[in-house]
Amino acid sequence: MSATAAMRRARVVVVGAGFGGLAAVRALARLPVDVALIDRHNYHTFTPLLYQVAAAELEPEEIAYPIRSILRRAPSTQFFWGEISAIDFSRHVITKGELEVSYDYLVLAVGSTTNFFGVPGAAEHALPLKTLEQAIALRNHLLACFERADHETDPARRRPLLTFAIVGGGPTGVEFAGALAELVAGPLRRDHRALDFREVRIVLLEAADTLLLGFPVRLREYARARLARMGVDVRLQSSVTRVAADALTFSDGSILPAATAVWTAGVRAGLGSARWGLPAGAKGQVPVMPTLQVAAYPDVYVIGDLAQVEDLARPLPMLAPVAIQQGAAAARNIGLRLAGKAPVPFRYKDAGTLATIGRNAAVAELGGRAFTGFPAWVLWLCVHLIQLIGYRNRLFVVINWARDYFLSDRPVRLILPSAEARGAEASDQGQTRTP
Ligand SMILES: Cc1cc2nc3c(=O)[nH]c(=O)nc-3n(C[C@H](O)[C@H](O)[C@H](O)COP(=O)(O)OP(=O)(O)OC[C@H]3O[C@@H](n4cnc5c(N)ncnc54)[C@H](O)[C@@H]3O)c2cc1C
Repeated sequence: MSATAAMRRARVVVVGAGFGGLAAVRALARLPVDVALIDRHNYHTFTPLLYQVAAAELEPEEIAYPIRSILRRAPSTQFFWGEISAIDFSRHVITKGELEVSYDYLVLAVGSTTNFFGVPGAAEHALPLKTLEQAIALRNHLLACFERADHETDPARRRPLLTFAIVGGGPTGVEFAGALAELVAGPLRRDHRALDFREVRIVLLEAADTLLLGFPVRLREYARARLARMGVDVRLQSSVTRVAADALTFSDGSILPAATAVWTAGVRAGLGSARWGLPAGAKGQVPVMPTLQVAAYPDVYVIGDLAQVEDLARPLPMLAPVAIQQGAAAARNIGLRLAGKAPVPFRYKDAGTLATIGRNAAVAELGGRAFTGFPAWVLWLCVHLIQLIGYRNRLFVVINWARDYFLSDRPVRLILPSAEARGAEASDQGQTRTP
C-alpha cells in the first residue's frame, strides 16, 4: 500500500458477489475501509438449489437475492453492476466498461464455470447448470421436449425427445436426476395424458466407476440404488466423446439418441481467457499462498472456486463453505495488514457434505458419521433453508416444498422466452440447443 493510501481509509475492491465475495464484504464491513463490490449480476444466486429451478420445483427469484438489499447493512460498501473487463495489477486499477475502479486491496471471487473438457459438440449442444439463466433455459428445454413429444407421432423422432441424458454423477448430477425423475413421475405424467411414460428415459452417465466420488462408499451405493428405484438408468464407466443436437456418442462407439444432454461433469475457474496475467493452476484456478495472497501481487487475494491454495496435501473442494470461510479469512488478513501485522494462513474447517436424491432420500456425511434416507433428507432441508438469504425466499421455498411433498405437484411449469435467458456465460459457450 502506498504512503498516500495510508493517510486515508483504504479501499478494498471485491469482484464477485457469490458465497466468497459476500462473506468478504460482510467481514470487511467491520473494518475501517471503503469497499466496492462488483458483480455482473445484481443478485446473489444460491447455487445449491439451482437444480430445483431447472426441475420446475422453485421459482428463480426464490433462490436469488438482490445484492443492494444485502448491502443495506454495510453502508461503507458501494455496489457496481457489470462485468469487469480488465485488471491492471501494476496501477491497482480494475476496468468495468468505461469505468476505472482503483484499489489498495483486491479480493477476486469470480467463481467457476462449466468445463466441457473439449468434448466435441458439448459446448454447443449440452445444457450446463451453473447459473440462474442456465437453470431457466434447462427448465424451458425439458418442458418443450414434452410439449413436442406430445404431438410427435413418429416413434423414432419421439424417442430422443423423451430421453434425458445427464452427464456427470457428482452431487449436481445425482440431485438433478432425482428431481427430474420426480417431476416426470408426478406433474408431467398428469399433464401429458396422451404420452406413454414407459418411453421416458432418464440416463445418468458417469465416466468413473462410482457416483458421488469423495463420499463414503455406503452413501454412494445408497444413492445409486435409490436412483435406480426411481427409474433412473445409472451408467457408470460411460465416457461421452461427442454431443450432437439429437444424440450422445460414447468411447466404445455406442450412441444414445437424446435431445437433452445436461452437462454437470466438470468445472473450471471462472476467469476469461485473458486472465490479466494471473498464473493458471489445475482447472485454471489461480495458485495462491496459504494466506490467500497471489505471490506476485501481495495486495491481491483470490478466494473460493477461483483459488488453488498451495502447500495443501489435498486440493480443497469447490464448495460454498470453502468460499465463505476464505472470504472471511481474506478480510481478516486485510485487517491484520492494516494494523501492520503479518497475514495468517487459511485453515479450512470441514463441516461435512450433503446431497439429496429425492423425497425422503438424501446422503450426508457430518463429523465423520454417514447418514442416509429420511434423517439425511431432513438435515438437508434444514441446512438449505437456514442458508438461503431472505425470509420471503425461505417462506416461498417451504410452501413449494410442502406442495411438492404432499401433493406431488410443482406449480412452476412455464416455458418462458429463452433467447436472452441463456445469459452471458451461455452465449460465451455458444449454447444453441433447442429440442
Ligand atoms: C448447480 C450447483 C450446485 C451446487 N451445490 C452445492 C452444494 O450443495 N453445496 C456446496 O457447498 N456447494 C455447492 N455448489 C458449489 C458452490 O456453488 C461454489 O463452490 C461456490 O458458489 C463458490 O463460491 P465463489 O464465491 O467462489 O463463486 P460464486 O458463488 O460462483 O460467485 C461468483 C460471482 O462472481 C460473479 N462474476 C463472475 N465473473 C465475473 C466478472 N467477470 N465480473 C463480475 N462478476 C463476475 C458471478 O456473477 C457470481 O456472482 C454448487 C454449484 C452449482 C453450480
